Amino acid sequence: MTRFTYHRPTTLPEALVALDEPGSRAIGGGTDLLPCIEDGVVRLTRVVDVRALPGAADLTLHADGSARLGAGVRLSTLAEHAGLSARYPMLADAALAVGTPALRNMGTLGGNLGQRMRCWYFRGGVACFKNGGERCAAYAGEHEYHGILGDVSCHAVHPSDVAVALEALDAQVEIAGPGGARRTCPVAELYAGAGNDPHKELTLAGGELITAVLLPAEAAGGAQHWEKVMQRGAWDFALISCAAARRTDGTVRMALGGVGLGPWRIAHSVEEDVASGGLDEDSIAALAERAMYDTVPLERNGYKVWIAQAVLRRAMRALGAQDGA
Ligand code: SF4
Repeated sequence: MTRFTYHRPTTLPEALVALDEPGSRAIGGGTDLLPCIEDGVVRLTRVVDVRALPGAADLTLHADGSARLGAGVRLSTLAEHAGLSARYPMLADAALAVGTPALRNMGTLGGNLGQRMRCWYFRGGVACFKNGGERCAAYAGEHEYHGILGDVSCHAVHPSDVAVALEALDAQVEIAGPGGARRTCPVAELYAGAGNDPHKELTLAGGELITAVLLPAEAAGGAQHWEKVMQRGAWDFALISCAAARRTDGTVRMALGGVGLGPWRIAHSVEEDVASGGLDEDSIAALAERAMYDTVPLERNGYKVWIAQAVLRRAMRALGAQDGA
């Protein structure tokens, strides 16, 4: 393990200056970053603890139905906050599905979104595409739990359950950068290209920091559904997870986790057909199959396609697809 220093700024400008220096990296609860440092898969010279920044731990429900979640909000808060759960129940369910109570009490929203991928070759220090090598060790090796999205250089999956729910809620990520620059981006964009980038999983530029997640008022209420399929019943990462919502305006959003290096939104044409309602069991099965047309499983993880179809069928039923509610 390399030696590093610890810095805890109390203002955003101070944090951004610190993060702009080479070798610096933001830390929240540290439940993923510290093991990565210990295992030598993340090398840095300074961690910048962003939990003391103003508003970092604020969870604000606006009167218009929207919400702002500070990046330092703990996962346990997301899981237990009655007001948030009333508006966005699948987000609370997704947060509750993360790890153990201890991990949820330490882990933060921003840290959860910024986890490194779960791949035993990467975490074990193998010189694969993501670890300074030229090719993916999992492709020709052990990849039962890897991604099924095909044409990428890294076949790992991102472990964030919360990101999957946020994708189906059309959440935006608020980002601050050097010099005080601010921008927002959709959740899926945060992970765009991660499968072909040898150095990182997020599209953050150097010195940028996730400061909050913004939930739109249009995503509140309606019918919401969350499911996480794990290999074992206790704490585990998702084999497949699914977040689905039928908004109060009747439109549908569906996203899957456990399939690639970021939440994966299913085709809009499938969502539109689910939204049309009146689906019988044959139609539901056909739509679930159609949703997975573009997937390209590896030699030993084709079972994930079947699981994904099963969770999509359950999600469609939960949204009232059968009776067109
Ligand atoms: Fe490395 Fe990604 Fe392949 Fe795992 S899946 S061996 S992290 S390139």
